Amino acid sequence: MTSAWQVLVGNLASVALLISLWMHLYYRFYRFSLTQLKLGFGAMMGLGVVISMLLSVELEKGIYFDLRNSLLAISAMFGGPLAIAITAPMAVLFRLAMGGAGAMIGIISIATVSALCLIAHLALGKHASGFRGIVAAVLLLPVSSFALIFIFTNPDTAPAVYQMSLITASLNMMAAAIAGSVMAHVHKSTLERDILRAALTQAPDFHYVKNLDSQFVITNLNVAVHSGRQESSEMVGLTDFDLVPARAQALFDAEQRIMRSGEPLIDFEEALEDENGASRWFSTTKVVLRNRHGDTVGLAGVTRDITRRKQLEQELTDSRNLLSQAMTEMSDGLAMFDRHGYLLFCNERYRSAFPLSAYARQPGAHIADIMRASARNGERKDIAVDVSEEWIQETVKHLHVTRDTEIPLCDNRWLSLRTRLTEDGSALVVVSDITAMKHAELSLRQLAEQMRDLAETDGLTGLANRRVFDETLASECANALRLSAPLSLLMIDVDRFKSYNDTYGHPAGDACLKEVSECLSAISMRPGDLVARYGGEEFAIVLPGTDLTAAVHLAEIFRMALQHRALAHAGSRFQVVTASIGVSTFAAGTHVLSPQDLVASADAALYRAKQMGRNRVETFRAEAKARRR
Ligand code: GH3
Ligand code: MG
Ligand code: MG
Repeated sequence: MTSAWQVLVGNLASVALLISLWMHLYYRFYRFSLTQLKLGFGAMMGLGVVISMLLSVELEKGIYFDLRNSLLAISAMFGGPLAIAITAPMAVLFRLAMGGAGAMIGIISIATVSALCLIAHLALGKHASGFRGIVAAVLLLPVSSFALIFIFTNPDTAPAVYQMSLITASLNMMAAAIAGSVMAHVHKSTLERDILRAALTQAPDFHYVKNLDSQFVITNLNVAVHSGRQESSEMVGLTDFDLVPARAQALFDAEQRIMRSGEPLIDFEEALEDENGASRWFSTTKVVLRNRHGDTVGLAGVTRDITRRKQLEQELTDSRNLLSQAMTEMSDGLAMFDRHGYLLFCNERYRSAFPLSAYARQPGAHIADIMRASARNGERKDIAVDVSEEWIQETVKHLHVTRDTEIPLCDNRWLSLRTRLTEDGSALVVVSDITAMKHAELSLRQLAEQMRDLAETDGLTGLANRRVFDETLASECANALRLSAPLSLLMIDVDRFKSYNDTYGHPAGDACLKEVSECLSAISMRPGDLVARYGGEEFAIVLPGTDLTAAVHLAEIFRMALQHRALAHAGSRFQVVTASIGVSTFAAGTHVLSPQDLVASADAALYRAKQMGRNRVETFRAEAKARRR
């Protein structure tokens, strides 16, 4: 029995050896496909089964005890159908070859363990390679072996077989537990390794680890391909001197510096030429790697192709420069406020358009602060220095509106502000100096007013001319009719004026007419009254809302005022310049209806005044219908 123990323990050792051998090979055969690995695993386990059987204890002729079942269980549980499809036939064939009385039972046992563990493998799915798989294998082993031994054992040898089976089952379970744990561990670490390897080799950038001598220890596929290799393993042991001799020394020195100082190189950007001579940009980060004792063991590097990003940056910079150049050189001020009223940007012209508040017009400033500064410094004519905060807040609220405004500045300049809203609610303001235009507009307006005055006044006397007289009389007649109010008209004619001209000359005649017009203007009249030069030495006064009595009174005042001016007139029997006045009144109920009638009747009255000796006032009488001309 002692020798049986020794053999079985030796058996256990061979199982352990085999498993560790497999672990070793597994890492080596990393590049094999999963199917290949499983078949290999099956073969390895089959080999174990054979070794185990070779080291088996032969209890009686043809009945062997060994640890083959643990290996079969592990093969089925961890390798699945592919592995057991190799392991089980190997076991069966070898058992057959060994022959003996227990060959049949042995084969059935092999088949049972394989089948039960395969079913468990399929049932457990991905858990088969973990703790559950180990437990299932350990539990299924005694079930299968004991059941068969009970059924097939010869009663004569039964006690010895039972005792042996107990030992064998225990050792098989132990072997399966140990082997399973190791396999589970291998499986788990393989998964982690695979993820890490995938992360490293499949990463889009260039990843590499170098040792203290700046030799590549591991790189991802990108580095290998970029260096003209097919496999990353081909990079191991190479240095930059093998790859880029021209830059190698500089790179080497830099890496040694990093490893010595521990200072990482972060996002170092450089432009390099590719194989076609085109320039490409790369960003590199290199960090020191340390072991768990803190000693520097190498460095890890990541290099990224940032050509596209660089191009975009360049394009952005170019267009920004172009924009800022355009903004600087444009003749108008330009400013952009975001939807909350903060100044996003502005050009120099914008600031110089508002010299007194230029300091406040900086990007980031709020429009309310800008307006306060502008108001405080008395910059704008349209904003009082002590303007209320409410007004500013209210104005600010309505700034984001598309519109054109013109603002007068206290330095007599005028600015045009054109505000346009952008899609995101920002306001773009274009400021133009329109001072010259405004001044031109102002002089044009003055000119127009002068022209109108010229068109409406008589050149010699400055009184309203005949055109204004006609228009005023027509509208006043209409008013009087509508309001049933009286309307009076005085027609004034200088007496013997032809003779004045003859006596004193024409220029003196002109001067005399000016005197007469001044005399007319001097008599106090109401705002609506109109004094006009009717033509030659004739004048007319339109007196709305004035009845005949008041009109005659006014005419009398003028007549006497002119006489008292005592302008010498040798040709007149009064020896001074005098005038005759005809008065006509348009009152409700009178037969005078139209401006023409009113003029004709005043003219008739004037004619009568002339006839009756001049220098007098006469009113219209219906019977005196004769006309002078
Ligand atoms: P009467 O007392 O009947 O009104 O006599 P009169 O000489 O004033 O009348 P008449 O119509 O014969 O002459 C008017 C003169 O007024 C003729 C013209 O030479 C003169 N006259 C008209 N307009 C002007 C003017 O603008 N300047 C000057 N100097 N003379 C003018
Ligand atoms: Mg006349
Ligand atoms: Mg006259």
